[in-house]
Amino acid sequence: MENKMILGKDIEQWKEDYPLLNKLIATEEVFWTNPKYGKFHEAIENISLNEEDVKDAEERLERFAPYIAKVFPETKEKNGIIESPTVKIPNMKDYLEKVYDQRILGDLLLKCDSHLAISGSIKARGGIYEVLKHAEDLAIESGMLTKEDDYSILDSDEFRKFFSQYSIAVGSTGNLGLSIGIMSAKLGFKVFVHMSADAKQWKKDLLRSKGVNVVEYESDYSKAVEEGRKQSDLDPNSYFVDDENSKNLFLGYAVAASRLKKQLEELNVVVDEDHPLFVYLPCGVGGGPGGVAFGLKLVYKDNVHCFFAEPTHSPCMLIGCMTEAHDQVCVQDFGIDNVTAADGLAVGRASGFVGKTLEGLLSGVYTVDDDKLYVLLKALADTEKIYLEPSALAGVAGVVDLFKTDMGQKYLEDKNLKDKMKNAIHIAWATGGSMVPEKEMNKYYQKGTELSAK
Ligand SMILES: *Cc1c(COP(=O)(O)O)cnc(C)c1O
Repeated sequence: MENKMILGKDIEQWKEDYPLLNKLIATEEVFWTNPKYGKFHEAIENISLNEEDVKDAEERLERFAPYIAKVFPETKEKNGIIESPTVKIPNMKDYLEKVYDQRILGDLLLKCDSHLAISGSIKARGGIYEVLKHAEDLAIESGMLTKEDDYSILDSDEFRKFFSQYSIAVGSTGNLGLSIGIMSAKLGFKVFVHMSADAKQWKKDLLRSKGVNVVEYESDYSKAVEEGRKQSDLDPNSYFVDDENSKNLFLGYAVAASRLKKQLEELNVVVDEDHPLFVYLPCGVGGGPGGVAFGLKLVYKDNVHCFFAEPTHSPCMLIGCMTEAHDQVCVQDFGIDNVTAADGLAVGRASGFVGKTLEGLLSGVYTVDDDKLYVLLKALADTEKIYLEPSALAGVAGVVDLFKTDMGQKYLEDKNLKDKMKNAIHIAWATGGSMVPEKEMNKYYQKGTELSAK
């Protein structure tokens, strides 16, 4: 280990250049703020994606809404728009203040992507969007569909037969596979989901019950992606969803922002220069939180501050951004094992595309110990009756860390936010949970109970 070279430097040199690596390697919780964070108007100039791209994605989802409403009746109430509630969680805020002995200024809200229709996680945004985009491209190219059609015609044997000539493949720790698998199978595609070892059995079972081909691997997410891509590349009619580099996934996630804006307005929550918004997003490979953060920066510009949350054993985005080596390094290079109960976040190598795109827009990244995820899971269930999967709780820890850590305090000082914090809005992005079987959830809760007693 000591003599191993990483991009031409040994570990000791890396630690000297980035002292925070000492804590990261010891899997201690850290709060890192991004020294390259800048003004929105300057940062956005270096990014190839823009508002028009997000609007295009939004319009595509509207075109598909009649189809979605028809084939997923649970979305009928929202006219086929897949969107989650945003709720205030004052009781959880009280709990956090008491247990962590830390005053939290401002309101605490939860964005319940855990309760998104169809696949019960944030992946119901990007994953489903990318499948729909691909289906639309194919159908329009073939002359079977125009953008002016009522897309509910896609729910027909004619279209299912057409799509059955094509395959869709993806590598996943679980939730992306659920979204891509369920949506693709519904349209009639052949679909292959390559699952890493940490993917839960119930997710594999659910997918198989919907006619999805699940391929299992003994190793982690990167291997599942690599193998999935290899197999897909052999078939010219196969489309590989590239979680690490896909602009479509990213844009599907980004649509969340304009919808959140509307919800906050309905809740009479103001976001402006005197009412700063802080958003805490659990991060795996980066596409989900990255897309959402990008969308939020387009909407709220310098008035929103986005922080990513990672497990202490999988801080891939933090290391990638801090060292600016992005996807050229993985946590295992530094002797960090990438073993975590936060299955959606068990990613050792971050997306280089996301890290580079957000270089000047991301406020920071913090890490959370696995045990804390369970304790917070139980606390949120007790205080607000909301049940999330462990990964999703990583977002809830952020608001405490912002106030409690020196780096968090320094961020607030440097950005002249201190006097405004009494008006702050904090949103923890709850990225998954509603599809977890009751038996599994009881086990999580039980574990939270045991750990809380310590
Ligand atoms: C996938 C996932 C995330 C993070 O999304 P990435 O695009 O992998 O960064 C967070 N939480 C849950 C529950 C997820 O499934």
